[in-house]
Amino acid sequence: MNDLILTAAKIVKESISTIALTGAGISVESGIPDFRSAGGLWTRYNPSEYAHIDGFRHNPRKIWRMIFELRDMTKNAQPNPAHIALAQLEKMGLLKAVITQNIDNLHQRAGNIKVVEFHGNSERLQCIYCGAEYPADEFMIDDEPPHCKNCGEILKPSVIFFGEMIPQMALMESQNLASDAKVVLVIGTSAVVYPASSIPHIAKANGAYIIEFNVEKTVISPTITDIFIQGKVGETLPEFIEAIMTL
Ligand code: NAD
Repeated sequence: MNDLILTAAKIVKESISTIALTGAGISVESGIPDFRSAGGLWTRYNPSEYAHIDGFRHNPRKIWRMIFELRDMTKNAQPNPAHIALAQLEKMGLLKAVITQNIDNLHQRAGNIKVVEFHGNSERLQCIYCGAEYPADEFMIDDEPPHCKNCGEILKPSVIFFGEMIPQMALMESQNLASDAKVVLVIGTSAVVYPASSIPHIAKANGAYIIEFNVEKTVISPTITDIFIQGKVGETLPEFIEAIMTL
C-alpha cells in the first residue's frame, strides 16, 4: 500500500470533521471529459460565449446546441469507483459533506446524502424569466430547446453560467463547512474556478489539513496542499477507503 495513502487514511480516520471538494476530474472515469483537456467542450465551444449568461439570453437556441451535446455525453454516465468511495466514506461517518462543482448528479446517485451543489444540477431546468423549475427528464427527449409551460420562454439548465451568482445557500453552507473542517479532500479539480477555489484556502486559514487527489499537480499543490496523492481517482480513492478499513 502507498505510504501517502496510508498516512492520509490515518488523518481522516482521526479527524472529527472532513469534507470533500470535487471537480470534473472525478467524473472523467465515468466517461464525462473535463472541459479543459484536449477534446473537452471548451476546445470546441468558446466558454466566454457559450457558458456566459449573456450568451444564453442573447441566443438560447445556439447555446442549446452545446447543451444537447453535453446531454448526449452524460446521459449514460454511471458513478465510478471514486464516487462510490466517497459514498462509503460518508456511510462510515467519516465525511461530513461533499461540495461539488460538478453538475452531473453522480455523487447523489452513488449514495452521498450531504452534497452541496455549488454550480447547480443539470437534472433540473429553470426559466430565467418567471422562475419556474422542472425536472430535465420531462423535456430532454428530442433536440428542440424546451419551453416554459408557464410563460413560453426557452428554459435553461439549472447550472451556473459565467456571469451568474452562486446560489446563496450553497455558498454560505460551503464557507461554513470550510471554516469548521479539520481535513479537506480536494479531488479532481484544477482549483482555479472562483469562488469554489476559495474553499480549501478558507479551510487552510482555519488550520485544516489539505489532502489532494489528482492525476497532476495543480496551483494549490505547492502552496497549501499537505499530502498530494497522484493518480486516477477511480484507483486512488478506493485504495484510500481500503486503507481506512485496515486501521
Ligand atoms: P477542471 O476541468 O478545471 O479540472 C479537472 C481536474 O481533474 C484537473 O486538475 C485534472 O488534472 C484532474 N483530473 C482529470 N482526470 C482525472 C482523474 N481520472 N483522476 C484524478 N484527477 C483527474 O475542472 P474543475 O476544477 O471542476 O472546474 C471546471 C468547471 O467545469 C467546474 O465548474 C464544473 O462545474 C464544470 N464541469 C463539470 C463537469 C461535470 O459535471 N462532470 C464536467 C466538466 C466541467
